[in-house]
Order: sequence, then structure tokens, then C-alpha cells
Amino acid sequence: MIFEGLAEKLQGTFDKLRGKGKLSEEDVKAALREVKLALLEADVNFRVVKNFIKDIEERAIGQEVLESLTPGQQVVKIVNEELTELMGGTQSKLTLASNPPTVIMLVGLQGAGKTTTVGKLAKNLHNKGRRPLLVAADIYRPAAIKQLQVLGERLEQPVFTMGDKQDPVDIAKAGVSHAESNGRDVVIIDTAGRLHIDEKLMGELKNIKKAVKPHEILLVVDSMTGQDAVNVAENFDDALGVDGVVLTKLDGDARGGAALSIREVTGKPIKFSGIGEKLDDLEPFHPDRMASRILG
Ligand code: GDP
Repeated sequence: MIFEGLAEKLQGTFDKLRGKGKLSEEDVKAALREVKLALLEADVNFRVVKNFIKDIEERAIGQEVLESLTPGQQVVKIVNEELTELMGGTQSKLTLASNPPTVIMLVGLQGAGKTTTVGKLAKNLHNKGRRPLLVAADIYRPAAIKQLQVLGERLEQPVFTMGDKQDPVDIAKAGVSHAESNGRDVVIIDTAGRLHIDEKLMGELKNIKKAVKPHEILLVVDSMTGQDAVNVAENFDDALGVDGVVLTKLDGDARGGAALSIREVTGKPIKFSGIGEKLDDLEPFHPDRMASRILG
């Protein structure tokens, strides 16, 4: 599970700190050195770690904290607040159009979990009373269309496809029109991924964006790839502009480096996390709950 190693280390560090009663500046600095190492071992971006520790140090080393009745607890509280802030502060929700259909475009590299996430998101929205339409605009990966159709059947939600011989831009546009004329209020577009970011992929995604003007572009990244996921997010955001991130495979990510770096590096919030292969395994991302998971 995510943050396993980090949680164990930080809880050890803070147990020591809390056990001390009175704290000196040096005690706090020593603890923060341990925090810094633990974050780097969890594969958090170096620059992010540096700023994070600096912010905490500024708040924690001062008379108010050190001379308080429970200085250890105060420091932990500060770390908790800063961790929450690092992951975006408050939960960032999907933007739903006031005038339906809401158009959501999922983008990302191949294997990140895009198609699976289309299904999960459709289920999540359907559970909330929405009427999703899944649109198969990945015409390159041979199994992608079929995979989406199978998901649609399982969810009993319609899938719009025009096969793999049409231009994905036309498919996306026709999908939105189909939703409009069939009373579907959320369109979820599955787009093509590649093994690496390339200009052709970005060009196609930009054209789809221009054609359907999505309310949400969600970038799906695999948390298990750590800082690569962060780089991918930066690149996609620079080239295309994304509204939020879905961080998949959190169930297999023991370190959590991507979860702790993406928001700070890209400025874009993590909106959902994928926590398994099943259609129910999608959760809204709550920065405060994640911080509490780390600090116990
Ligand atoms: P795409 O190429 O981005 O469309 O990726 P897929 O949706 O086909 O997913 C690739 C693989 O990752 C599949 O085997 C999925 O079952 C798996 N997968 C997707 N999301 C998650 C997740 O949150 N946790 C786990 N454990 N596996 C996932």
C-alpha cells in the first residue's frame, strides 16, 4: 500500500520527538533531517523536498512551538498541515458543465490505466445518477476499443465507437453529438497513448481538445513509475494543458513519490486515485486523508 515505508520512518521519527517533552532547535533540525531522507527515499522530487523542509523549519523553529506545552505534537501538526498543502490542500472535484453534456477527455501514456479509468469514472458518475457515454477514440492500440466495449457492457452503459479507420478527432466530435442527441450528460473520451510522449500523439490530443472543448482534461499516470510520472505530467501539461491528474496503481506503490510531488511540480491537482483493477477501485483524492495516512 502507498506510503508504507515513509509512514513507518516518519512515525518513528515523530515518536522520538514527542517522547522528549522539551525540544531544542537542534532536536527539531535532527528530526527534519530524518524527514528529508525519508522523503527522498520515497522518491519525492528533490526540489519539492527542499522547499517542504524549509517551510516546516520556518514554522517549527520558534519560541512559540518550542516553548509550548507539547512541542513534539506541535511539530507533527505542522508537518501534517504542510503535507496536506503539498498534495493540494483540499479535495479537487471534477468540473461538471452547467449545460450538459460534460465532456471529459482522458489522456496519458499507454499502460498507465487510461481505459480502465474511463470505466471506473463512468461507474462512479453513474452511481451518482449521471448518464455517461464512453467514447472509443484510441484507434491505435488494437484491443482498446474492444476493452472499452467490454467495460461498457459490464456497466450497462453505452459505448460510442466508429471502429479504427476514422480520425480520432471526428470520432470524438461525433461522440459528443451522439451524447447530445441521446440524453447522455457526461461524455468520457478514451484517447490514444504511446509508450513515450511524441509530437504526433500531442498533435492529435490538441486537435481533439480544439474540436470538443472538454470541460476536463484528466491525465492518467501510473504512480509506480515515481518521478517518471511527474515528468510525464509536466510534459503533458506544458503541451496540452491538463485540469487534473488521476494517479493509478496506488495499491502497488509503496513509496508515494509521485503522489507527493505532482501537485507541487505541475500545479495541477490529483483528482482521483486508482487503487486496484476492479471498476470500484477509484477514489476521490483527499490530501488530508493521505497526510494522515503518512503520519498515523
Ligand atoms: P491504458 O493503456 O492506459 O488504457 O491502460 P489500461 O487501462 O489498459 O491498464 C493497463 C493495466 O493496468 C491493466 O492491466 C489494468 O488492469 C491495470 N490497472 C489500471 N489501473 C490500475 C490500478 O489502479 N491498480 C492496479 N493494480 N492496476 C491497474
